[in-house]
Amino acid sequence: MNTENITKLAEIVKNAQKIVFFGGAGVSTESGLKDYRSKDGIYNTYNKYGISPEEILSIDFFEENPQIFYQFYREFFLHNVKPNKAHLSLAKLEQSGKKVTVVTQNVDNLHQLAGSKNVLELHGTAEKYYCANCGKNHSKEYIADKTNPVPKCTACGGVVRPVVTLYGEMLDEYVTERAIRAIWEADLLIIGGTSLTVYPAASYINYFNGPHLVVINKEHTASDGRADLVFHDSIGDVLDAVCRKLEL
Ligand SMILES: [Zn+2]
Repeated sequence: MNTENITKLAEIVKNAQKIVFFGGAGVSTESGLKDYRSKDGIYNTYNKYGISPEEILSIDFFEENPQIFYQFYREFFLHNVKPNKAHLSLAKLEQSGKKVTVVTQNVDNLHQLAGSKNVLELHGTAEKYYCANCGKNHSKEYIADKTNPVPKCTACGGVVRPVVTLYGEMLDEYVTERAIRAIWEADLLIIGGTSLTVYPAASYINYFNGPHLVVINKEHTASDGRADLVFHDSIGDVLDAVCRKLEL
């Protein structure tokens, strides 16, 4: 990790009033969650199910094959993992009094578990479930119980689904509007753990108008060229180093 760039980033963070962290799967994989979009994830999904993860996670597939959907879903989404240094550092920054907005493509609730209050979940959450027929809420524990291959509503017998935006569904308008506004108003945008290939979410960063753009991602991203600073390192390591520099 480039210590000179850490010092620069710490200085930018120190002077920033409104920070947006825009995070993708890479933030969660540092907690040990598997990424279905990774090469291995896609390869293994094809091997096991004969189709792509995106197909399985689509609304049409869910409605036609809920059992296979849930087999896949449990494999990738229902793990008890803990927040890592990236989540914890962002929570510390918020607690230090800065206006920090976390805009995430992840559905794992790890930012909230770390203590962040201002989290916008573009793709919903795997914490909450409801009956697709009558709307009744069901718990995550109920979904995790593999003795019900397809979790059915305790009131009407309908299929229970996650509050996760599936492929083929629109993103929540209220959440996306708030995310775009936060990005628009920010003076520092940190993009972490996403190669910016999932649309429409990735296009929201085009609304950024502020002075400092920073990218932290293991691989090259489409935004590297316009960033002030680029780290091809672990997000947790970079943000933790910045917090230490700021004595948070
Ligand atoms: Zn129901």
